[in-house]
Amino acid sequence: MDLVTISTALSSLKSAYDLSKVISESADSLEQAEIKLKLAELMGALADTKSQISDIKLELITKNEKIQELENQIRIQNQVKFEQPYYWKITNDNRDGPYCQKCYDDIKKLIRLQDEKHGSWRCLVCSSYFRDKNYKEESFDDSDSPYNSYV
Ligand SMILES: [Zn+2]
Repeated sequence: MDLVTISTALSSLKSAYDLSKVISESADSLEQAEIKLKLAELMGALADTKSQISDIKLELITKNEKIQELENQIRIQNQVKFEQPYYWKITNDNRDGPYCQKCYDDIKKLIRLQDEKHGSWRCLVCSSYFRDKNYKEESFDDSDSPYNSYV
């Protein structure tokens, strides 16, 4: 929606108002056929206005949804803290997580990591693996593992 859409709707509404005024003020002097013609024009102008206002309504709904989505992102952004190699959500001294660094940086979604034990974590969405400070090389043989994050 832009200002042109609103201006067009207002213009249609003004046309409808002007037509109804003409019909109202000169009903006695207008022929039946002219009145019918003016009424048809009036109905057309009202239909245009209705359609344009409907477009504006849809656009406002879409914009409200987008605003809500952005507000949610800002709220989450203020709660999320990066601690290598993953994210934590911190609210009122509560720590929740850890969450996937790749998914949050890429699509702004907090995806909980699965504990693979021994300090390694896995994301079920993007399949990334993370090793935190508790990871020990001798925990298991990982010579062929797909781990992509190290501390
Ligand atoms: Zn991920």
